[in-house]
Amino acid sequence: MQLTFLGTAAANAYPEAFCSCANCEQARALGGPSLRKRSAALVNDDLLIDLGPDVHTAAALHGRPLTNVRYCLQTHAHADHLDPSHLLSRSPAYGVVGAPQLQLYGSPATLGRLAETLARDLIPGSLFDPAAQEQLNVELHPVTPLAPFAVGPYTVLAIPANHDPSVEPLLYIIQADGHCIFYGTDTAALPESAWQTFHAHRLHFNVVVLDHTYGPGHPGDDHLSARDVAAYAARLRAAKLLADGGRVLATHIAHDANPPHPELAAYAAAHGYEIAYDGLCV
Ligand SMILES: [Zn+2]
Ligand SMILES: [Zn+2]
Ligand SMILES: [Zn+2]
Repeated sequence: MQLTFLGTAAANAYPEAFCSCANCEQARALGGPSLRKRSAALVNDDLLIDLGPDVHTAAALHGRPLTNVRYCLQTHAHADHLDPSHLLSRSPAYGVVGAPQLQLYGSPATLGRLAETLARDLIPGSLFDPAAQEQLNVELHPVTPLAPFAVGPYTVLAIPANHDPSVEPLLYIIQADGHCIFYGTDTAALPESAWQTFHAHRLHFNVVVLDHTYGPGHPGDDHLSARDVAAYAARLRAAKLLADGGRVLATHIAHDANPPHPELAAYAAAHGYEIAYDGLCV
């Protein structure tokens, strides 16, 4: 399996376009991996994690067209992870040629929020109506957490995140070809039940991706911070939850105490993990 980071920023992107704090000014000056779009990722060329607001830009900038995407695992319905207009822009009504039917997975609350937004602004009627799904070339799949399910060639297990309960956010474990990925954003401290699930399913992760909204020295609260990610990287190793050569990578990076990429990458290297950047392929 190949995982490409299409975006690695939190909701406000990085640099925050309207912000002149020291971190944003330095990121602007440095460019390259210090420029982050809103979080999303691509597994191989057919499974997208989050229909995020910047995926069109990311696909073009990083040479990762989404033309073969037939599955999407939606973590939750927050606007930095879900732009409902993508469902229109990728539909035959917009002249899109050759796009496979999109199998869209998410919690019932997230799919409900998506349908509400579409019904309010963009389509007549409900996305839960099979005729609307056919028109948009999409099929909805409500996900039950903690029960493995097949998504094409992948086996997926959803873990409830510690994040806005109104959208029932999910973190995803994705397995195929003897490889295992954990995509863990957005969340605050992982509940013990998540760790128990890792052990119960005897998982050995090749790649663990974790929320890193807040940087070194930040206490964290509603999302994970650098301190939390360093502690989790150590715990994953101690509990033998990483496969040989397994990597822990941080994403969903905000300007709050996270310096631009080179300095943040050096901090992470000294604390047992790595910092993802837009376009990184592992
Ligand atoms: Zn987010
Ligand atoms: Zn800033
Ligand atoms: Zn969120």
